[in-house]
Amino acid sequence: MSAQTTNRIARSRHDYQAPAFTIKTMQLSFNLHSTATRVTAVMQVNRETPGAALQLDGQHLTLIAITLDGRKLSAEHYQLSADGLVLPEVPDSFELCIETEIAPQHNTALEGLYMAGNTYCTQCEAEGFRRIMFFPDRPDVLCQYTVTIKADAKTYPYLLSNGNKISDHIDELGLRTVQWHDPFPKPCYLFALVAGDFDLVTDNFITQSGRDVRLELFVDKGAAAKGDFALQALKRAMRWDEQRFNLEYDLDIYMVVAVDFFNMGAMENKGLNIFNSKYVLADAASATDRDYFNIESIIGHEYFHNWTGNRVTCRDWFQLSLKEGLTVFRDQEFSADMGSATLSRIDAVKLIRSAQFAEDASPMAHPIRPEQVLEMNNFYTVTVYDKGAEVIRMLQTLLGRQLFASGLTLYLKRHDGQAATCDDFIRAMQDASGYDLTQFALWYSQSGTPVLTVKQQYDADTKQLSLTLRQETAATADQATKQALLLPIAVELLFADNSRQKQLFCLTDAEQQFVLPDVATEPVVVWLEHFSAPVKLHCQATTEDLLQIAAQASDGVARWDAMQQYWSRQITAVMQGAAVQTVITAELVALLKQWLELPAADLALTAELLTLPDFDTLAEQHDEIPVDAILSALSSIKMFLAQQLREAFLQCLHNLPQPAYRYQQQDVAIRRLRHLCLSYMAQLAEYDVVLQQHYQQADNMTDTIAVLMATQQAGSALFPQLRDDFCQRWQHDALVMDKAFALVATDPADTVFAGIAAMQQHRQFSWKNPNRVRALFSAFSMRNPQQFHRLDGAGYRLLLEAITKLDPINPQVSARLVTPLLSWRRFDKTRQQLMLDALQLLAAQSNLSNDLFEKVSRSLP
Ligand code: ZN
Repeated sequence: MSAQTTNRIARSRHDYQAPAFTIKTMQLSFNLHSTATRVTAVMQVNRETPGAALQLDGQHLTLIAITLDGRKLSAEHYQLSADGLVLPEVPDSFELCIETEIAPQHNTALEGLYMAGNTYCTQCEAEGFRRIMFFPDRPDVLCQYTVTIKADAKTYPYLLSNGNKISDHIDELGLRTVQWHDPFPKPCYLFALVAGDFDLVTDNFITQSGRDVRLELFVDKGAAAKGDFALQALKRAMRWDEQRFNLEYDLDIYMVVAVDFFNMGAMENKGLNIFNSKYVLADAASATDRDYFNIESIIGHEYFHNWTGNRVTCRDWFQLSLKEGLTVFRDQEFSADMGSATLSRIDAVKLIRSAQFAEDASPMAHPIRPEQVLEMNNFYTVTVYDKGAEVIRMLQTLLGRQLFASGLTLYLKRHDGQAATCDDFIRAMQDASGYDLTQFALWYSQSGTPVLTVKQQYDADTKQLSLTLRQETAATADQATKQALLLPIAVELLFADNSRQKQLFCLTDAEQQFVLPDVATEPVVVWLEHFSAPVKLHCQATTEDLLQIAAQASDGVARWDAMQQYWSRQITAVMQGAAVQTVITAELVALLKQWLELPAADLALTAELLTLPDFDTLAEQHDEIPVDAILSALSSIKMFLAQQLREAFLQCLHNLPQPAYRYQQQDVAIRRLRHLCLSYMAQLAEYDVVLQQHYQQADNMTDTIAVLMATQQAGSALFPQLRDDFCQRWQHDALVMDKAFALVATDPADTVFAGIAAMQQHRQFSWKNPNRVRALFSAFSMRNPQQFHRLDGAGYRLLLEAITKLDPINPQVSARLVTPLLSWRRFDKTRQQLMLDALQLLAAQSNLSNDLFEKVSRSLP
């Protein structure tokens, strides 16, 4: 069979129906071959719905044979289409055996069974299993798998699947047969298979109940030393989940495989995680502090899925945030405990304010539990994941850590082995805590970013402080009317005598007033401490108030946030025509100087206080994004600060110790502050020598990249020469070349187009590798506003060409690339037209993937 077009019918959340048939056990066999792998499934099928036909999903499969209870079926017994197989009349209980053939080598979409270099591997979430076998490819059909893999023993020393290995032998011809059994029933999206040759790094972990778990990490040959950090991070994650949530690992073996071709970060397949090698491999020479941070957090994320995702899975894909929002929240809490809680929270807040707010304001706006989906891969979004995590965090804030933990325990106990819904989760939280979460549950169905407007009024006679809070959520592309949400608003009051008071308000109405009695003097109010709700805040704080909060709030995130508000205001003033020297006052310069001379105990926080909000964050503060005004205000303020603080930066740099590289919180903070200094100093040619020296003396990737980015962003004459040196030195290392590709693509200079064209010819570049494509084109479209939004449209055209080329190869990645174009309505008329032209050219193409079709069609007028 080979009908090419599949249908374009969106599914709705409300159309859910329980499966008409269940499948209790599955014996799955693979005879691996790069262009003709034979897959055989033997399934025990039971009818649940009287009269229903058996419908199995299947795509890009060649059907070889079907037998039912041992009888071979001929073509008149079934209907085959591009989307699957229907057997109209089947018994109530039977054994179904299906044989298919697939070509992993030709699978460039990287869904189903594919080849990552010489390695066979699978990616089945969300709906990739249907590219391996005809099956009800939905997360609420759970069955027990026994998997047999056959391949040449020499070429494929490791043949892996989920669960425990139950047999392994090699025949006289050198053909190896390995069998695996996973005792935990699971949906097919958690199935995994890997075959290849690797370096194996092993360790073990004794669980809190005393079971010995074998840990195995599989990496590219020769890369064993780069796997150590990930393996140690895994052990920290296992211990942390026991201590924080009393959750223990449940199999005797835990395997992690790093592959070079992967659409996303990593995948939580039961007992056999598959990772993008970018999120496993690290050493000081080739990985940055950020890489180390990401590795630890993603290793944690996939491990935490073992309970939140695998033991309790999702009933249908609309419930994705049930596992993803919750698991992101868990990995964020893990990162906070392993390193700097303040820094990791600041990073999370930045992501919400830039990418998530942008998504809410785009044609792809959706609640954390979407209502309508055409291509599920399009809903692995910053809304489902990261806003989803904010919703879980608000629950913890409302209930308190203890009740929240009890709620999680109840949820996991109640639904262990089941496919659950977001409503089930809320119900467990409610039952465990006694809170009425009816209104809170609106967060699951309402999209959009609430705007919170706050006013304070102090009455010196009555000693009353009145706080008036108002919330409003504007209509979004998917939803016209909005209701008032339950917002937990954490507040700190700072008094003149240095005393302070904390308070948590629950805003439930559109507008509410909270009156505090017996307030001796008027305090400065720190609103939304620790970003207690994912909203846009409008408050009347004066610039003096903001600077006081930045200096004194007890929450580091609140201090950073006050400075962000402060910088935003000054940037806005410059955009409206004020002269930089009147906006950046002498008092401010004096304060910043003081911070640089006597940095806070947390050096990284000092660096964050001095970091201007990025373009995307500023953009979200405007309905129509004034691209040029934002960029020019940012660069003039940055230059002015560099000039005013030139000695302070140099002095601060000299005062910082330079210990040998270790990925360790204090050292990360030192480097963060050093890099902040360098990023300002790069503005001034007089410091070229200092920057050059830093580049030459760097003994780790973090320092090297810092100099490259500083000189690039400053438009320094040093940059091209350093960049070329870097490319030369690392040309053999694909993961480091991704950093080089991104450095070329994010260069704000006009030469970026020639640079990107040249890099497409680099021997490490390949359209088939998502990391390479993202390093060049996502970096360009998402982190180079200057050139992407050029008024001659060249930036948009470059992206259009890349998407056009990529869509037939890898639709999942091409659909992610199109994101920045979807927001065309947010720009001025000229840019609107140019972006729309690009989208219309895409829409006119024949054979557009469903992934791209859904996004493009949602965005067109
Ligand atoms: Zn996840």
